[in-house]
Amino acid sequence: MLPKVIAICNQKGGVGKTTTAVNISAGLAARGYKVLLIDTDHQASCTVAFGLKSEYDNKSIYAALVGLSPIQDCIIRTGYPNLDLIPSTPHLVGAEIELVNVTEREYILTEKLEPIKPLYDFIFIDCPPSLGIVPVNSLMASDSVIIPLQCEYFGIEGLELILGTMKIIQKRLKPELRVEGILLTMHDEDNELSNQILKLMRSTFGDQVFDTYIPRDMAFIDSTAKQVPVILAKKKNTVGAKAYDRLILEFLEKYNLIKRKR
Ligand code: ADP
Ligand code: MG
Repeated sequence: MLPKVIAICNQKGGVGKTTTAVNISAGLAARGYKVLLIDTDHQASCTVAFGLKSEYDNKSIYAALVGLSPIQDCIIRTGYPNLDLIPSTPHLVGAEIELVNVTEREYILTEKLEPIKPLYDFIFIDCPPSLGIVPVNSLMASDSVIIPLQCEYFGIEGLELILGTMKIIQKRLKPELRVEGILLTMHDEDNELSNQILKLMRSTFGDQVFDTYIPRDMAFIDSTAKQVPVILAKKKNTVGAKAYDRLILEFLEKYNLIKRKR
């Protein structure tokens, strides 16, 4: 079944979650799909990636979750066609405490998303590198999860952690939550370990691993400073931009959904 809400999740930091969330969202929007990206990391890296500010506490995922503003009022335009964003703010840390005593607190985001879901083809949720009420809400609101995994030794530890978390959620709360795919990131073809991890992941997890992997590319680091996603940069022919474009095609082909660029 075609997933509509997809979380980008791994409890480890610096594995490429935000880069993946930003580039998949921007790439699908450029292909004509209506996309909402929700930044649920209090560091607000997604928000900053589009050159937007995270200073409006009453127009953010924090405001929506704690009931400060209706979620519809928290959506901002990114300036790119078909791509909207619910920004994050440093105050999101506080939501972890503020939501502790709310009944059915794991379902807050699921309920909040209901009225805005019909407005979009896809909703991506960029998760923080931690586990708390907000990330659990993100997983509960999602149909499937993309797990970015760095092609490095410690990357495998992160994978065990997130798969364990998903198992608990599947067992206790949401059996239908699926792994959309494990995405190998920051691959370095000149590095033996990087190649070994690629092979090991494919032999262990089979078709749960996306065929496409993301190479290490300095363009991603430049894009953070330029505040334009690599996939939308004027100079699009970087290996990183091409890899995310291939990933999008792989995803669309899996669901027989190839739409021409508008
Ligand atoms: P996370 O959200 O998991 O913490 P990020 O997407 O923010 O990870 O990536 C961490 C850092 O690595 C950022 O500075 C980002 O620009 C950089 N980065 C991400 N993907 C790549 C890549 N494929 N090659 C090189 N640098 C990358
Ligand atoms: Mg991040």
